[in-house]
Amino acid sequence: MQGSRLTFFGGVGKSGGVQVLYGKGKQAVLFDFGVEHSSLLFPKQVTLCEPVGATPGRELRQFLLAGMTAPLTELYDPDALKGLDAAKVRRRVWNDADFPRYDDIRLFIGHMHTDHMAVLPYARPDLPVYMSHDSHSLFRGMVAGRHSADTKARITVCDDLSVIDFGEFSMQIVEMDHNATGAAGLILDDGIHKIAYTGDWRRQGKHPERIDRFIELCRARQVDLLITEGTRLASDPSSEVSGQMPEAELLSRFSEIVGEADGLVILQMSPRDLERMADMIAIAAAQGRKIAMDASHAAIWHAANREGLRILKDHPALDTALRIVEPTVAEGDFFPYETISLEEMAERKGEYIYFYKFPDLAHLIELETLGEAPGPSHFIQSDYSVKIDQADVAKFLQTFGIVGHSLSNGGHAHPEALSDMIERIAPQAVITLHSRYPDSQNTRGIPAYRPTKGETAAVSSIVERR
Ligand SMILES: [Zn+2]
Ligand SMILES: [Zn+2]
Repeated sequence: MQGSRLTFFGGVGKSGGVQVLYGKGKQAVLFDFGVEHSSLLFPKQVTLCEPVGATPGRELRQFLLAGMTAPLTELYDPDALKGLDAAKVRRRVWNDADFPRYDDIRLFIGHMHTDHMAVLPYARPDLPVYMSHDSHSLFRGMVAGRHSADTKARITVCDDLSVIDFGEFSMQIVEMDHNATGAAGLILDDGIHKIAYTGDWRRQGKHPERIDRFIELCRARQVDLLITEGTRLASDPSSEVSGQMPEAELLSRFSEIVGEADGLVILQMSPRDLERMADMIAIAAAQGRKIAMDASHAAIWHAANREGLRILKDHPALDTALRIVEPTVAEGDFFPYETISLEEMAERKGEYIYFYKFPDLAHLIELETLGEAPGPSHFIQSDYSVKIDQADVAKFLQTFGIVGHSLSNGGHAHPEALSDMIERIAPQAVITLHSRYPDSQNTRGIPAYRPTKGETAAVSSIVERR
């Protein structure tokens, strides 16, 4: 009887796109189902202005032929494959590699960033998919806000720390902290070896206690192999990587900016970090600001909260009224909120904060030119892919004398935090994925294993090399 094996389809030597197949006997789980950043194509993503995207209707074919997703046709919706031949993909893209075969493959999606979930809309109908409760709520929000197409897969919503028994192995869901609401990692156990997967994580977020809990769980279970992300590792391991502001400090700076502003406050943030959105809504409301919001952001907020985001239970932002900015409403949109026109907002700039979405900069022409304000407007960029020095944003800020602020702390662990986690868990071996520079990882003496893309390795051979 063969022990468990790992096959690495994505996330090797690249940022994002972790796709690892863990299997034993006839059963397997593929963890995460997105595509790498900076591959040939970017999945349709609303936070980037003009990504080189896949051809609408042919996305899955192009992801498969670009080697951006696992060549396991049983995972995919035949309608999306449109007759693409699996053998051809394996021959042309994966050098005819002989991948392990399993009768029962299920998915785990750790969080709702595109590089971890972009392929979900193309999953085979009724394919079993596991995710955390809040990841599922956010996904419903993303579908409502048109950030993602829906899926025909069969989603099982998992409680924090719940254990799914596959038969050949078990999988425990462990919620983490990352700038996507609901982010979770895993502990896999086949009765012989235990593997922990962090997903994307950070220590500077609002819930460092969750990271400590993950470490304690891994120590208590004596995890043999740790698979962590390493996004922030630099090409030169000796180079100083700047520290990251804790979330509490970021929020208090936000509060100061809003408190001191006399004019309009414009905020650009990620609507997949709904806890920060909630905190910023509550802080701005407490400072006497009314909340105006882009319609797609409001759709995510409303639909995710209708599902009952656990992390926002009893949060004061849930009772705060929103006003949807009129020109962002698309036909067929329905919200239980009032709308506000640009003219009304321009007349009362000092009363509003606008949760805005790039590239709606043209709104600023009207907002800045009409009405009066006792002071300049403030533009806050908070962990969003379009920064304040982006050419168009910079041009608008300069033209209208808008004060720009950058309030970001990133979603990923600092190299020191990575090393600290590895040392404390003290596994037999560590694998760093989701990183351009995995060799820069200081593992504090723990043996590192460097898989290659497309490689299949027995777990025993990885952990018993010493
Ligand atoms: Zn990622
Ligand atoms: Zn992420």
